[in-house]
Amino acid sequence: MVRRGNDVSIGRDISLRGGSTRRQFLTWSALVGALAFTPELTGIPAANAQSVVPPDFPFRLGVASGDPLPDSVVLWTRLATDPFAPLGGMNPGVVPVQWQIAADEKFGRIVTQGVELATKFDGWSVHVDVEGLEPAREYFYRFLVGAHASTVGRTKTAPAPGQSLGRLDFAWASCQKWEDGFFDAYKDVASSNLDVVFFLGDYIYEYAIKDEGARAGKARPDSAARETMVLNDYRDRYAMYKADENLAAAHASAPFVTTFDDHEVDNNWASQISQDDDDPKQFLLRRADAFKAWWENMPVRANLRPSGPDMKVYRRFSFGDLVDFSVLDTRQYRSDQANGDGEHAQNAETADPSRTITGAEQEQWILDGFSSPSKWNFLAHQTVISDLARGLDADRKVGMDPWSGYEASRHRILDGARDRGTNNVASIVGDIHRTIVSELRRDYQDQVSPVVGVEIATTSIASGKDGADVDTTGAAIAHGSPHVKFGNARRGYLRASLTPSEWRSEVRVLDAVSTPGNAVRTAATVTVPDGSPEIDLR
Ligand code: FE
Ligand code: CA
Repeated sequence: MVRRGNDVSIGRDISLRGGSTRRQFLTWSALVGALAFTPELTGIPAANAQSVVPPDFPFRLGVASGDPLPDSVVLWTRLATDPFAPLGGMNPGVVPVQWQIAADEKFGRIVTQGVELATKFDGWSVHVDVEGLEPAREYFYRFLVGAHASTVGRTKTAPAPGQSLGRLDFAWASCQKWEDGFFDAYKDVASSNLDVVFFLGDYIYEYAIKDEGARAGKARPDSAARETMVLNDYRDRYAMYKADENLAAAHASAPFVTTFDDHEVDNNWASQISQDDDDPKQFLLRRADAFKAWWENMPVRANLRPSGPDMKVYRRFSFGDLVDFSVLDTRQYRSDQANGDGEHAQNAETADPSRTITGAEQEQWILDGFSSPSKWNFLAHQTVISDLARGLDADRKVGMDPWSGYEASRHRILDGARDRGTNNVASIVGDIHRTIVSELRRDYQDQVSPVVGVEIATTSIASGKDGADVDTTGAAIAHGSPHVKFGNARRGYLRASLTPSEWRSEVRVLDAVSTPGNAVRTAATVTVPDGSPEIDLR
């Protein structure tokens, strides 16, 4: 179960956030007075603790909500008066940020409110864990600093445990390489009135960015010219992405559940091992900085805050009796990629049962989750479980980074689901910059291996530039992977409605992301019925 962070308190009796028991609204001056006693909270010496209200509009990185529970949702913002300046243009000091949740968009009926402190220590981000909300309800929220008000966000709580739920509208997205194109897919997300959006990895890319391509000439931080290695550069990178108005609109439209993949840290990292095989001690310092910046910038609870290079992100979200989503971390605990990474035939190394993509503890947690009585059981994670083989027989090669390079993990997870008689196993992933709909099987070279579920990989929001309906890689996968039922290499995302009788997904794509303002269309609709993993394509 998801555990919440502790209340942050200052002084003896002042809670810094509202909640079911403490909903008093703190005045700004009361807070600032209390701050003098709490240097450990602000990360600056008590003598220097002072409130600094930015004269300029400080909500340029937007607002977000996330990790919905039946009685709680996280509200997020991060102050920056200039997203492209060092430290987002913020001056050292503490900024009290008032937050409000209302039943209506005009804030005529405020349900709960409070004050949270934004500090340099956390990159001026705030994560408000609002409690005492009603299940399966829409709410509106905003933040106030001095005379400045943020845009209004919409969010929604999850249904009560076991509550009958007739329909869940959700989306999943991944891979939004800023320099590769515009985020118009998110404009479509924002107008889709969703219950929840899953972001499954590659929220940022760590590479040095050249001033060329789709976003040539667009404002960016100085640090964008170098690969992100340290905390402030990762913070800058998130600010650059968050300044995108379509991404901000998507966040403001619905709660997000986010996890990370490789590029939030370093391409194809595995546990303590970097892409370039740096000294693991050095890499862990980098990982700590990358994790801190990820936590600061995601609408996740305070209890996900990393401790040095460690951050426990795998967690589960239930929506009444309809569905469980197990959100995974397949980077932090994995064995190094087999056969030197890249593409390779499966062999004794990929099948080695001592290797793992989840780590033993998370694997057991996934298996335990399969005992859930929910109608549907989703794994929401990073890389494809299915083999995306190119070529047949002697020419057959698969990726060493996704689960095809960790066959024993696939066997243990899919066998575990079967052994428990798990209802309607489904996998939603990203990573591959193409939409792929495939059957989940224990073994893909054994044609009688039963189908145990359905996997739908979303394409990228922008990574890979414009793309095409069919490209050479897609054709090779279609040839080498008969269990793949659909592929499309354009940019976009997946939008779905889930009911007790079916899982219906729309493959939403754009003809181009190299220019802004392109329309989003449905390239295919994929329906999976309750009770059997059959893929119907329209
Ligand atoms: Fe990616
Ligand atoms: Ca990736």
